[in-house]
Amino acid sequence: MIEVQDLHKHFGGFHAVDGASLRIEERSITGLIGPNGAGKTTLFNVIAGVLPPTRGRVTMAGEDITGLPPHTLFHKGLLRTFQIAHEFGSMTCRENLMMVPGGQSGESLWNTWFGRKRIADEERALRAKADEVLEFLTVSHLADQRASEISGGQKKLLELGRTMMVDARIVFLDEVGAGVNRTLLNTIGDAILRLNSERGYTFVVIEHDMDFIGRICGPVICMAEGKVLAEGTLDEIKADERVIEAYLGT
Ligand code: ADP
Repeated sequence: MIEVQDLHKHFGGFHAVDGASLRIEERSITGLIGPNGAGKTTLFNVIAGVLPPTRGRVTMAGEDITGLPPHTLFHKGLLRTFQIAHEFGSMTCRENLMMVPGGQSGESLWNTWFGRKRIADEERALRAKADEVLEFLTVSHLADQRASEISGGQKKLLELGRTMMVDARIVFLDEVGAGVNRTLLNTIGDAILRLNSERGYTFVVIEHDMDFIGRICGPVICMAEGKVLAEGTLDEIKADERVIEAYLGT
C-alpha cells in the first residue's frame, strides 16, 4: 500500500532520515521500532505530509504522494494521529470526534444562519457516528466528559477514534502506548486489531513496548541512524545482531 524509496530528510547538515526504503503491505499492522533518534517520527512526518522530504519518493497504491499536504492525504485515507490539541480540551469527547470530518462539523455547530435543516441533519448524523465510535472503543461513558479531564490512555483511544470518523485506509500511530496503563493498552490493542480485521485498516505503529508490538504487529521494521536496519517478524528482529548492536549503542 505504501512504498518509500530512498527517502531523505535533512535538518541543516543532520540526516534524520538518511536513505530509508520500505514497503507497507495493505491490511498489515506493521511495527516500526528502533532506538531513540533513529528517525522514526521524522519518517512518519514526511510520509504523512507534515514535513517535506529532502529527497526520495513515497507512493500509495502506486500513486506518487511525495510531499502532498496532510489535508490531501487525509482525503486519500492516509492519517497520522495527533495529540488532542490543548484548545479542544474544553470540548467533550463526543464533540472532539464530531470536529473531525474536514472541519464541516465546526461550521455546522456554529453556523445557524443558513441551511438550518441541512445542518441539523448533518449534525445528527455526526453525533450518531461519534457515539458509534465511542461504543466501538468501549468508552461510551466518556461521551460528555471534557477531553482535558480524561486520562492519558483514554486520550490515546480518542485519538484513534478520530480516525474512525472518516474513511481511513492507513493510519500511522506514534507511541500509542506511551504512559498508558496495561488495561487501557490492551483496549487500544483490541481496537487496532478489530479495525484491521473488520474494517480493513492498515496500521503502522511506532512503539517501544515490545510486548505490545508482539501482540498486534505482523511485520516489524527496525530503523537506526535514519535507515532501515532490518525487517521481519519480531522474533527475527530481536535475534538480529545488527538490531542488538543498534540498541546497545544508545
Ligand atoms: P525517533 O522517532 O526514532 O526517536 P526522530 O525522528 O524523532 O527519531 O529524530 C531523529 C533525529 O532527528 C533526532 O536526532 C532528532 O533530534 C532530529 N530531529 C528531529 N526533528 C528535528 C528538527 N525539526 N530539527 C532538527 N533536528 C531534528
